[in-house]
Amino acid sequence: MSRPSPRTDLAHEALKQAILEQALEPGTKLPEDEIGAHFGMSRTLVRAVLAKLQAEGLVDARPKRTATVAQPTLAEAREVFEVRRALEIEIVRLVIKRWKPAFGAELEGMLREEEAARRRGEPKVAGRLAGEFHIRLAQLTGNRLIARYMEELVTRCSLILAVFGQPHGADAGHDEHSELVAALRAGDADAAIAIMDHHMGVVEKRALAEETPAESAALGDVLARYAGAIGARDAAVPLVAAQKRGRAK
Ligand SMILES: [Zn+2]
Repeated sequence: MSRPSPRTDLAHEALKQAILEQALEPGTKLPEDEIGAHFGMSRTLVRAVLAKLQAEGLVDARPKRTATVAQPTLAEAREVFEVRRALEIEIVRLVIKRWKPAFGAELEGMLREEEAARRRGEPKVAGRLAGEFHIRLAQLTGNRLIARYMEELVTRCSLILAVFGQPHGADAGHDEHSELVAALRAGDADAAIAIMDHHMGVVEKRALAEETPAESAALGDVLARYAGAIGARDAAVPLVAAQKRGRAK
């Protein structure tokens, strides 16, 4: 394995965000030489970045072929949601067993942040925070494997929402998140499971509701835009770096 460097982290993060926000539409070719030239990275390092994105379900990479942005089919999307729903319900079961009041305070803090982003008119940020709410819930089970799988499932679901979902439809189940935390706080396992099951049904329905066409853009332009934005953001907002560290645990 190649040693991770700030450059590969930047390339990974820029490509991931560009894919999830559909600046790079499914099927777009991702030539190693062009990405390497853009980030000043060797092909070996570019390949490592593409392999990581492939493991996250965002890129299709096959030997001797140019990697492309993954193009989930409707059948694959349904499979992802089936697995996620089953795991989310198990997560609720496990979290309620080891519940502490501090969990409630933390989750409510995340919901306030998400609501603030929505009020500021930043649906993409709100959608990302909604995904982080689910990842944090998975971490609270204390099972690291479940947390890792959920991180992957949330990323895959974000791509599916971007490809098939309604515009700005990334999660948007804020009220259900609040209801869930209330049920967890009350120690009501049946209610919490029912809310999560219903919530996953709503998210899935929204995700697979319609196909939205995307506009193509040149790979170099998109990379410049995303890498620039991430560079500026990480330099200016230490909070984001702190969140990323938290997520990486
Ligand atoms: Zn949700």
